[in-house]
Amino acid sequence: MEAAAEPGNLAGVRHIILVLSGKGGVGKSTISTELALALRHQGKKVGILDVDLCGPSIPRMLGSQGKAVHQCDQGWVPVFVDQEQSISLMSVGFLLENPDEAVVWKGPKKNALIKQFVSDVAWGQLDFLVVDTPPGTSDEHMATMEALRPYRPLGALVITTPQAVSVGDVRRELTFCRKTGLQVIGVVENMSGFVCPHCARLNSSSRLGRKHLYPLSHLTSSVPLDPELTRSLEEGRDFMQEFPKSSAFPALT
Ligand code: ADP
Repeated sequence: MEAAAEPGNLAGVRHIILVLSGKGGVGKSTISTELALALRHQGKKVGILDVDLCGPSIPRMLGSQGKAVHQCDQGWVPVFVDQEQSISLMSVGFLLENPDEAVVWKGPKKNALIKQFVSDVAWGQLDFLVVDTPPGTSDEHMATMEALRPYRPLGALVITTPQAVSVGDVRRELTFCRKTGLQVIGVVENMSGFVCPHCARLNSSSRLGRKHLYPLSHLTSSVPLDPELTRSLEEGRDFMQEFPKSSAFPALT
């Protein structure tokens, strides 16, 4: 895992967005992936940095599992997930022989890898870098923020679900953002309502009952639970073609 340190590797990145969630399983990696596809759909060049070290699921979602990361003089070359090379991806999933390996790492080792990810990946010119963070607000988040601070991240997208416990967690994320000076650019309520697998009709749920839980001004969008979306991500299908039909499309574009 040795790569040449190159502090200027993020110099060509225009905007950095961190994706946060209070706990796992709320769809943070899904929304990170769909956000990257949405930005790409708008003609942007996008990188995804997957620092969710214990659950690196983005390579699978983008059909890039098992691809190799190469080295160049500037460090690691991220994996291009599409032919046009408009989405590049770096994930610990590309570096491990056994995907369960990172789960047993201690904090300092994780933090060192996060710092290395920030300094040693040769992104080139990007409009956006989407950073998929681990769930919660741990040392790994502090390490990520410390490493990214010199590059002035644009802000954070906080992912939650309608369940009260998750909504409670989102408030901790908002506090983390406030304390670290990270602007909240939006809250996405994922799996809010559902798309009927038979008739594809959207059954939405109202957010108004939860407005006391987090400021409604932050609640920019909601994405329904859609079995088609699960399937498409599980199978890593032709995501470029399918994205405009994704139920996350209206919320993220
Ligand atoms: P996290 O990154 O928060 O742990 P994931 O993005 O890995 O969560 O999502 C957990 C599971 O839920 C995955 O199987 C994913 O496909 C599924 N999922 C996430 N969001 C949706 C959605 N809106 N509709 C259907 N399935 C979803």
